[in-house]
Amino acid sequence: MPTTVRQVIDALEQRYPPAIAADWDAIGLVSGSPDNTVTSIVLAVDPVLAVVQEAIDCGAEMIITHHPLFLHGVHSVAATTARGVVVEELIRNGISLYAAHTNADHARPGVSDALAAALGVVELQPIDPLASDPHLGTGRKGRLPTPMSLRDFAEQIVAALPSTSAGIKVAGEPEAMIETVGVCGGAGDSLLPFVADLDVYVTSDLRHHRAQDHLADSACALIDVPHWAGEWPWLPVAAAQLAADLTAGGASVELRVSAVVTDPWNWHTGG
Ligand SMILES: [Zn+2]
Repeated sequence: MPTTVRQVIDALEQRYPPAIAADWDAIGLVSGSPDNTVTSIVLAVDPVLAVVQEAIDCGAEMIITHHPLFLHGVHSVAATTARGVVVEELIRNGISLYAAHTNADHARPGVSDALAAALGVVELQPIDPLASDPHLGTGRKGRLPTPMSLRDFAEQIVAALPSTSAGIKVAGEPEAMIETVGVCGGAGDSLLPFVADLDVYVTSDLRHHRAQDHLADSACALIDVPHWAGEWPWLPVAAAQLAADLTAGGASVELRVSAVVTDPWNWHTGG
């Protein structure tokens, strides 16, 4: 029996239940039919044209992304916008698109568990637990098995994450010793109030005033990693889980983690 999009969605939603997504989110099937047949799937952070092209090139019938293609009201999918072109190419090539966003953030293991594991952080628990289930939630905090300097931890992050042109930014004393660590894949400045008692907080897209106020009020250092790189470690974890779940269900699908760097910052200058 060929595997269908519906079987893939059922497996995904066991791991990442839609009910635990944030109420503002737009997760689930974006294009395609649940009845379509799937032999090959690409997993990526962003539903952009380069990823759709990668799926076309490798013959995949389905793309699973972390970020939704549409998050707000849509009144046109005409090919006059980049997202409209993505829709047109998905449909023209018979490719189903599915997004697992905050449901994959909140789940265990989820996006921030994968980031924390990549950085060597253990004994993880949510930074901001869900009221409905405190085992789940946003961000993860834990500790390093062996304390190290902030400088060494930053170098460990560079080695652990996929390489991007932007590099990582650090705020804190380079020789300060780090043991307790908070991480949040994606833009995690909303968690700053919860990390003051940790040694360092790793997230993306930290803004000037939020970072400055945090550093003035607490000894918790900050590390800002590229948004794409911080969420990418979830892809191989999700692919391995999905492969195992589908195999256990008698299905067989080839899973491929996207190699396309979709970080919007493609070069930097000034040191
Ligand atoms: Zn994100």
